[in-house]
Amino acid sequence: MDGVFVAIGYVPNNEIAKGLQLELTPDGYIKVDLTSMRTPMPGVYAAGDITGGLKQIVVAVGQGSIAAMSAFEDIGNPHLDKQQAERKAS
Ligand SMILES: Cc1cc2nc3c(=O)[nH]c(=O)nc-3n(C[C@H](O)[C@H](O)[C@H](O)COP(=O)(O)OP(=O)(O)OC[C@H]3O[C@@H](n4cnc5c(N)ncnc54)[C@H](O)[C@@H]3O)c2cc1C
Repeated sequence: MDGVFVAIGYVPNNEIAKGLQLELTPDGYIKVDLTSMRTPMPGVYAAGDITGGLKQIVVAVGQGSIAAMSAFEDIGNPHLDKQQAERKAS
């Protein structure tokens, strides 16, 4: 034969997410708000392939950066979330 192409599949490795009881999509990816990479569970963020969507390194890195900035905001300014929630509610 001239070549072998291995199909690795697309089953998300979500055991940690299941252990944390994070909300998953029907396909098994971690649900996130794509503008902040926050999961519905406070203080837990997700980025990269495990969130589904485009599986590319540059996407994973960009989402990781967004998640880090969200964590920084949440740790440093937890009142911002409260203010945003109040603004949304009004
Ligand atoms: C064969 C192949 C070729 C690709 N080619 C390209 C390409 O040319 N260009 C491109 O942009 N993208 C390419 N990709 C996609 C790219 O590799 C991924 O999109 C990117 O690596 C996703 O990064 P990630 O950090 O989300 O996940 P990963 O890189 O998969 O990192 C997840 C890490 O978590 C670790 N992990 C998993 N479970 C646990 C656990 N329970 N405890 C501790 N650690 C755990 C894993 O070991 C792994 O190191 C390719 C992927 C494959 C498989």
